Amino acid sequence: MKSPIKLLSTDFDGTLHAEFEDPPVPVRLQELIGQLQRQGAKWIINTGRDLPSLMEGMARARMSVKPDYLALVEREIYVHEGSQYVPLADWNARCDARHAELFVRLRGDVEELRAWIDQRFDATIYGDMWSPFCVITKTLEDMDAVQVFLEDYYQAAPDVAVVRNDVYLRFSHRDFNKGTALARIASLVGARPEETFAAGDHLNDLPMLSREFAGLLAAPANAVPAVKNSVRVQSGFVAEEPFGHGVFSALEHFLGGRGVH
Ligand SMILES: [Mg+2]
Repeated sequence: MKSPIKLLSTDFDGTLHAEFEDPPVPVRLQELIGQLQRQGAKWIINTGRDLPSLMEGMARARMSVKPDYLALVEREIYVHEGSQYVPLADWNARCDARHAELFVRLRGDVEELRAWIDQRFDATIYGDMWSPFCVITKTLEDMDAVQVFLEDYYQAAPDVAVVRNDVYLRFSHRDFNKGTALARIASLVGARPEETFAAGDHLNDLPMLSREFAGLLAAPANAVPAVKNSVRVQSGFVAEEPFGHGVFSALEHFLGGRGVH
């Protein structure tokens, strides 16, 4: 029988990959993804990592399968061609231009934002090529407060997105996230939302864990409560197993015995 899944979008850290497990990506999950790819499905790793960091993570994990697309830093798209991943030029150029405009504006706020956080928390604050303002806090509770402050601060600026993953936070343009990157790739592949599977574990995954983009939603057992709730209320699958083991169960659930041979 034909697989109902044409496109898979998996977060990397904590969803596909668990650093402290050996192997970090379960073998049977790799095999299942490989089978789906041989049947014509396309696979995206949709991550907050940048290209060198993801390449290193995949190499260290000795993965037997390769994604067809990468969505990196929650915004840029790369396409698998031969031995390399090449940028999807029109999307990435538009993404760069919109961020450049946004970041000129945000740089004017950096000192005020830094002062507010410094007065209250022992946090690390820096800027990099992906965001003029990045924060790492010592605890999740500290980051909860920082996130609320920043979301409040930019409430009237609809183009500013506060992107949080665990104790890490940065800014991006509202129009570029894991969800809009997934939609762009789905249009290239010709996959409809009901043929699209998406799995993630943290807050930066919420934009792609939406039935607007993917009808088959999944979260592993280690996902944060907000992600599990969002997946549940959209009739998705919350696995009893963590990390890639949970993604495997979710795929089996949605395949329902189809598409695996
Ligand atoms: Mg994650």
